[in-house]
Amino acid sequence: MRFFPCGLVSGAQCCQMLCQCTSRYRHRSGLLYLAFVRSTYSMAPQTRSRSVASQVRTAAEKKAPPAKTQTRAKKSKILSDAKRRQVKTLEVPSAVDVSVEQGLADHVQRNLLGWYDRNFRALPWRTPPGEKAASNASNAYAIWVSEIMLQQTQVGTVVDYFARWMQRFPTVIALAGASLDEVNGVWAGLGYYRRSKMLHEGAQYVTDVHQGQIPTTYEQLLKIPGIGPYTAAAIASIAFNQCNAAVDGNVIRVISRLLCVGHVAANSTQGAKLFQQLATEMMKGLESRPGDYNQALMDLGATICTPRAPKCSACPLQAQCRAYKEAQSAPEVDVSLILKYPNKTRKAKAREETLLCCIVVGKDGHFLVTQRPDKGLLAGLWEFPAVVDHNTTTEDINSRLLDLLNRIGCGLDPKAFDLQDTPGVPTIRALGNFVHVFSHIRQTVMVWAVEVPEKALGSSLGVSGETPRRWVHESKLADLAMSTQMRKVFQLFKSTNT
Ligand code: SF4
Repeated sequence: MRFFPCGLVSGAQCCQMLCQCTSRYRHRSGLLYLAFVRSTYSMAPQTRSRSVASQVRTAAEKKAPPAKTQTRAKKSKILSDAKRRQVKTLEVPSAVDVSVEQGLADHVQRNLLGWYDRNFRALPWRTPPGEKAASNASNAYAIWVSEIMLQQTQVGTVVDYFARWMQRFPTVIALAGASLDEVNGVWAGLGYYRRSKMLHEGAQYVTDVHQGQIPTTYEQLLKIPGIGPYTAAAIASIAFNQCNAAVDGNVIRVISRLLCVGHVAANSTQGAKLFQQLATEMMKGLESRPGDYNQALMDLGATICTPRAPKCSACPLQAQCRAYKEAQSAPEVDVSLILKYPNKTRKAKAREETLLCCIVVGKDGHFLVTQRPDKGLLAGLWEFPAVVDHNTTTEDINSRLLDLLNRIGCGLDPKAFDLQDTPGVPTIRALGNFVHVFSHIRQTVMVWAVEVPEKALGSSLGVSGETPRRWVHESKLADLAMSTQMRKVFQLFKSTNT
């Protein structure tokens, strides 16, 4: 019997695991345990499930009595027992499998803060290193707004929106007192409109519960609608100087490379827990500037330790980075040994949909707009009449378009229009198609336009009725809370009308 430093005993373990162990043992005994754990748990899913299935079968076959005498109940018990044992064997290691030594944390903190001081990015919501913000309360509100805007949106885009937002809603109380329509109007174009709705709800909560004063602790911040662990930690550390680790995608990337953590999918629940723990450990012993430290780590991930092309030569953490060392120690420097971190499971493919959209042109440059339901995709935003086409039959698209006008119920009689270019009858013009991608839906938008004769403008076009709708002059469309997708629809209309 042979013992290995990783704890495996030859002959007592699965041969696949043993091969991993012995081959690495021969070359790099020091890294053996972590390398073994990583390689075992980062097996391709198919390989892993095949191995699980075969081992479950083997266990079941060994235990099961002869087939003739087996009852169905016994079979299922044996299989479920075997599965339970197997799941236990292959369970993803818990968060305690990786930890941060204090010496490493000290080096990282020192190098990171030094780098931040030299490379500070001046942004409207940031206080320069070493300076004190004029007011913690207004600083906290600015950080809250900026952090929500920065989710899914580039810094360059956010800067202008942030300035407009702070001018229109300078305080939490001003935001809480505005209507959702106004809030969406200022947000329009930033996308992911749920964020503006949640900011609005959060402001109303802070006004009702805390008299408009943003609470100062992480736990209280977490209770505000729309504020999750990341935003709560960012506000608590930057505005109120508390040692809470703010963990976003950039931070996860840096930590996973720094510590070579790839055995857990970063976008899984287990991964979120593990990286939160590691980020917290990395802050251990930090006596001051927790906000600067968090911002430095985020900036490092955004500008240096980027997903596809990390600039390791400019990185202040190069000396501590294990992925960098792995890449350098390969026979030929191998960047893929860095890029494999963090480990992520693939997102489900976006669903394909077709959206039928018709621009209805009324009198004197007015356009008909309808409001979306206040729940779901693009909740509460205004749009040109549109409907998702669920028709999968071969029915003529023109009939479906007439059906769209019918379903909009805007008082327009579809029979009053013509798809055949009959002289004297309003014609529905096809303007073209384009593709718009949301995070989980890929929509092909088919756009038409129709001019409505005065006699067809029914009195039912007020804001009453099932779908709120109204006529809006072209000059006011820019102020309306409309999605980027609908702005593209209007651009298409304009480009075909010049
Ligand atoms: S050395 Fe390279 S891989 Fe490591 S943290 Fe820095 S940029 Fe990222």
